[in-house]
Amino acid sequence: MKKKWVRFSAIFVLVALAASCAINPVTGKRELSFISEEGEISLGKETDGQIRQEYGVYADAALNAYVSAVGQRMVPITHRPKLPYSFQVLDTPVVNAFAVPGGYVYVTRGLLAMMNSEAELAAVLGHELGHVNARHSVRRMSEMMLIQVGLLIGSAINDTFADLAGIASIGVQLLYLKFSRDDERQADALGVDYSRKASYNPGPIIGFFGSLQKLGDLQGGHSLPGFLSTHPLEAERIKNVTKMLLPTDRSLAFKRDEYLGKVNNIVYGDDPRQGYVESNAFYHPTMHFAFALPANWKVENTPSQVTIVSPDQKAGFILEAEQTQDSLQNYAAKKAQAIENRKFLNDQSLTINGLSSYHQLYDIPQQESDTLRARLSFIRKEGMIYSFTALSSASSFGSYDSAFQNMVRSFRDMNDPRYLNRQPVRLRLIKPSGQQNLQAIFQANSIKKDMWPKMAVLNGLELTDVPASSRLVKVIR
Ligand SMILES: [Zn+2]
Repeated sequence: MKKKWVRFSAIFVLVALAASCAINPVTGKRELSFISEEGEISLGKETDGQIRQEYGVYADAALNAYVSAVGQRMVPITHRPKLPYSFQVLDTPVVNAFAVPGGYVYVTRGLLAMMNSEAELAAVLGHELGHVNARHSVRRMSEMMLIQVGLLIGSAINDTFADLAGIASIGVQLLYLKFSRDDERQADALGVDYSRKASYNPGPIIGFFGSLQKLGDLQGGHSLPGFLSTHPLEAERIKNVTKMLLPTDRSLAFKRDEYLGKVNNIVYGDDPRQGYVESNAFYHPTMHFAFALPANWKVENTPSQVTIVSPDQKAGFILEAEQTQDSLQNYAAKKAQAIENRKFLNDQSLTINGLSSYHQLYDIPQQESDTLRARLSFIRKEGMIYSFTALSSASSFGSYDSAFQNMVRSFRDMNDPRYLNRQPVRLRLIKPSGQQNLQAIFQANSIKKDMWPKMAVLNGLELTDVPASSRLVKVIR
């Protein structure tokens, strides 16, 4: 519990000190503001660090520079042009865009693969700039911090994990942050306004909204996080934005080919080079390790850690890695220091698949819930120490412990080229003949049939449409 309190205490002090009446830069109305602009910027900076750690910035400097240039073109037009804006591409297949207070704007590579023009990108970035400028982000984030405190009390397991492994939960939540209907409407209006003033045609955003809707339908009706949330809201937003468009917008920039040229070759879907699950094992080709997974446990892989949760969600397992020259015992002692009220039970040194390892078992009594038990395991491989944190209530630990130990004891150096050389699939551009419909193009390019509907959406087309020879077609392979 401590770590999160510490993490937020500085901000809470700020919140307490800064509560005052401020003028909303967009509406010009006075409203109760809990965070000063200075506080907003430092909050944004801190959150930015967490987001970058949690998702990673997509390693393509040219693409990041391009997205940034499109965003920066709108900055002087915004209501708060002096904020230190940044625009970054996050390395995740999740389809989303969001902003955090202080002017940090993110689009995911999953979203970039969905769009078909620079005008759409400008409208999306403009929408996020709208949230920042109307201070939605800072208001919503203050609310979220209060929720966060509420969550802390109920979930000792999550919290102990946060202490042990430093879960960047704020970052995770931000990706799924929802704004009110009014806030979305206002951000849409600002997005149209900003992109138009930067000479982009705001019209193509309508087609893009439609594509997101179709993608949601293809994903079994699951609505997409954040940027577009619930279905009726989408329909309403499409209607509202359509009303904002002007006949003169059509003469503004669209920039389809320029945009497609920039996203050509972008990684699509999960990137196996960052680790992947196959037949009940986790493989990491770049760090060349592998370990077995218990059946039906849920795996979540992020740049900072692999989280594995039992089917009943009552036990969890986190793997992290750190470059260090520390001895296993010293490193373990440092890690254990993060656990408040820990009671040491036992320890053990072992050689696992030729690697030296050290293990500790702790009980962690809780004030308002069952005592927790943690098994910490540390394995040295090359210059890294791999830390495994296994956690559940002490009373049920016995029923999960064999799963925990099997994972740790299966950890091994992995040099099998069959697993090492996995490459991600990428978005590629094809010049169509102008005679074939989209389905025939996909067929001719040996695209798997089950991918056709999704790829049609990616192109903003129907499978029966015949793209003109001048219109590049996106495929994934
Ligand atoms: Zn929004």
